[in-house]
Amino acid sequence: EQTIGANFRLVAGRTPGAVAMEEALTGRSWTYAEMDRDTDELARALMAAGIEAGDRVGIWSPNCAEWTLLQYATSKMGAILVNINPAYRRHELEFVVGQCGMKMLVAAPDDERSDFTAMARGVLEAAGSLEQVVLLPDMAAAAGARYDGAGDLRQGESTFAALVQRAGEVSADDLDRRLGSLAPDDAINLQYTSGTTGFPKGVTLSHRNLLNNGFHIGSLLSYAGADSETGQDKVVIAVPFFHCFGMVIGNLAALSHGASTVVPGRAFKADEALAAVQRYGGTSLYGVPTMFIAELALPDFADYDLSTLRTGVMAGSTCPVEVMKRVISEMNMSEVAICYGMTETSPVSTMTRVDDSLARRTQTVGRTMPHLESKIVSPLDGAVVARGEQGELCTRGYAVMQGYWNDGAKTAEAIDEGGWMHTGDLASMDPDGYVRIEGRIKDLVIRGGENISPREIEEFLYQHPSVQDVQVIGVPDEKYGEEIMACIILKEGVGPLTVDDVREYCTGRIAHYKIPRYVQVRSSFPMTVSGKVRKVEMRAEASRLIE
Ligand code: ATP
Ligand code: MG
Repeated sequence: EQTIGANFRLVAGRTPGAVAMEEALTGRSWTYAEMDRDTDELARALMAAGIEAGDRVGIWSPNCAEWTLLQYATSKMGAILVNINPAYRRHELEFVVGQCGMKMLVAAPDDERSDFTAMARGVLEAAGSLEQVVLLPDMAAAAGARYDGAGDLRQGESTFAALVQRAGEVSADDLDRRLGSLAPDDAINLQYTSGTTGFPKGVTLSHRNLLNNGFHIGSLLSYAGADSETGQDKVVIAVPFFHCFGMVIGNLAALSHGASTVVPGRAFKADEALAAVQRYGGTSLYGVPTMFIAELALPDFADYDLSTLRTGVMAGSTCPVEVMKRVISEMNMSEVAICYGMTETSPVSTMTRVDDSLARRTQTVGRTMPHLESKIVSPLDGAVVARGEQGELCTRGYAVMQGYWNDGAKTAEAIDEGGWMHTGDLASMDPDGYVRIEGRIKDLVIRGGENISPREIEEFLYQHPSVQDVQVIGVPDEKYGEEIMACIILKEGVGPLTVDDVREYCTGRIAHYKIPRYVQVRSSFPMTVSGKVRKVEMRAEASRLIE
């Protein structure tokens, strides 16, 4: 029953001198007291700039400390933070700004991938709802300095430093009154889904949704503050903040327990993530499966000192069992948890627990989180299926979003009258309540009337000695409706792998109808920035190739 801002003040008051956030790229760090002060200052500055509670403030940037400062500052003064994927280009930015009626946009400095400034300017000049663009400092310039100075600015633009300087126009009492007027059920965040299956949807989330979810995740990971006997946890967040993985499972889970966060770099790099663990003594490391795969595949993997690691989170998509085993044994993450969820459920709805058996921690996504409910229903008639049988997973409880922003029709499609969020994921639940995700209903391959779960074939092919990563998709076929294609990334230095090699490897070991008809060797998969493979894109690509 707290708001995020009030909770942060409470935790900061317990251990004001403890580290709250460290940024590897610039070497900057904040104690809890400093972060409380700086987020107060930024909150007052936002109020001075005319931002009211409920106004939408966008953040369009790869990971950096300012991202988190803005997350907590908006929570304190009641603006709705809108997370924008840094991979978005002008067209997508314009869509988001228009869709949510954004008033202020905080944009990253230009980097080798993106000219954020020019694109933000373009949208500002298009004269919609957007009134102000705030430019974040260049990270190199920010090293040492608190924030950098001015540049060449136009009407409606300001630097982050200049914005912060406006804090003096609003008193600390005014901010306290604002913070005190906020309620747990106020919308505080608008997150767009990963866009794995189509165009991203804007998910409206409240303090209650996010803080409770973050807090329970942190409890289940036994995150501790500097005042605990076990010492303070250091959570290395190698996943993006604009996604719930970084922002909730990362920032909120860590900071609601007095643990500290480490930002290894802007976008994910395997070597930066492991270097940050070593340099800061990380106790927890996050990633989607492909990130852990990349870390384990680093040529100098064995040279990193990962001895401080204890736990971490793997989530976002199905993790091959082999990878999970290596993470536990070779990365020292004996307590690593698998989380399952979606943006629409704040995000985590099921999670493995430390005392679950290795089999359960590698093959299931654990049991339902405290204070939430799960059920698995038949996609045909909506009835709950028998334990062990497959159906659509549904979630109910405090974590279910308020709705899709400004889209009552889509909300009504996703959340039924009983309050159940329909996930679109195919799952089964065993008699003890452990959930297995079998894939997305949309990814099922239907070959000659047979429903085939790509996951099963992926798990099998993953054991092939030449395979580093594999994705299985369905491609159109005249005879069978769909045929199976295995898209494979080979391990470094291994020779070519033909479709005949793969078929021979499968023959006699998996059912004949599951044996891939096509094999495509590739150097990478199309990914969302949150690290998920976009099978939609691969299917479209493959269909073109086959025609
Ligand atoms: P979009 O809804 O825009 O197509 P998305 O569903 O990928 O994109 P997110 O909300 O980021 O957007 O991801 C939620 C989905 O990720 C879940 O519905 C599920 O399919 C998948 N997922 C999350 N965690 C796991 C996990 N541990 N194992 C398997 N799949 C997972
Ligand atoms: Mg989704």
